[in-house]
Amino acid sequence: MKNIAILGSTGSIGVSTVEVVLQNPSRFSVCALAAGRNLKLMKEQIETFRPRIVSVIDHDHARQLRDMLGQSSGIEILWGGEGYREVATCREADMVLSAIVGAAGLLPTVDAIEAGKDVALANKETMVMAGRLVVDKAKSHGVNILPVDSEHGAIFQCLVGHNKADVRKIILTASGGPFFRLPKEKMHDVTLEDALKHPNWDMGAKITIDSATMMNKGLEVIEAMWFFDVDIDRIDVLIHPQSIVHSMVEYNDGSSIAQLGVPDMKGPIAYALSYPERLHDVIAPLSLSTIGTLEFFSPDFDKFKNLDLAYRAAARGGTAPAVLNAANEVAVEAFINGDIGFMDLPDIVEEVVTGHEAKEPHTIADVLEADRNGRKMAREIVERLVLQH
Ligand code: MG
Repeated sequence: MKNIAILGSTGSIGVSTVEVVLQNPSRFSVCALAAGRNLKLMKEQIETFRPRIVSVIDHDHARQLRDMLGQSSGIEILWGGEGYREVATCREADMVLSAIVGAAGLLPTVDAIEAGKDVALANKETMVMAGRLVVDKAKSHGVNILPVDSEHGAIFQCLVGHNKADVRKIILTASGGPFFRLPKEKMHDVTLEDALKHPNWDMGAKITIDSATMMNKGLEVIEAMWFFDVDIDRIDVLIHPQSIVHSMVEYNDGSSIAQLGVPDMKGPIAYALSYPERLHDVIAPLSLSTIGTLEFFSPDFDKFKNLDLAYRAAARGGTAPAVLNAANEVAVEAFINGDIGFMDLPDIVEEVVTGHEAKEPHTIADVLEADRNGRKMAREIVERLVLQH
């Protein structure tokens, strides 16, 4: 029996994880849950799993949840950063599934690693912001970090049984998002509603916007660099609108190995939870004859500047990727709030990253300082743009 603590249990990845756990009750149980503000779903999950501790976003939500559950529930209800830390390090957990969105997921994930917990990592920001530090910490604490992102889960599967020295290239596939076929000059007219329509994957708002600008793929390229210990110039992006080939590895002999499946996050989640074994009947089997056609295209770095910016930040290294991510988080929030236009997103990121002097972070505190600086610069640019509009 593997005991799992879920960080981000009411989000898209958290909900799929709960499904995988419920389908395999003899293999997995849930000992702790952390979420944000969705108390209704949190209550359902608590009644299903009866975890010892749970955490929500703040004191106010913790109080509301206590009222909903009744004083005598016997469940410890915590809140905020300290609450997330308690969930991430809870003594019963064998594994922590880290699926809090954005930079907020970094600290609890680091806590889990330092507590010696294996981590199933959906929070790509952990690797983007602090890749080297996180990889080193995992090594020194004897912790396995397993990828949950579908592309990284695919690459992980393509690497099983092979020697790292034989790898020539890692190829991350990307759906291309809703604007793959839209001419560049029409991108200025894109609305929030348009950007929230992802063709293949059902995800939260932040990552859906990131898919539309291709920043999601940029962050994933950086994530792959740390997960698989390969140089950035050996990671390629390939547009594949059907999202059936989840990524591939090219070996030195010219042979490529790809992982395929229907686009359903339960696939990579289940593999991360059960590795090295495979569970039964996790996702619908693939019918290639029904799908018929799989297409592949080169990415357009000019139209999707964010992808280029991510490669450049990765090549600069140090704090540059953390600042790229911070600027993007502020910009996406401003776009969702209706403060800026779609094409302002990469412009803000570019201005912040160009103005940042990257240096090697020695501690997580250094990373968080770079994150704060990136956010501050991005907010100033957003304010300037709001005044101009
Ligand atoms: Mg992905």
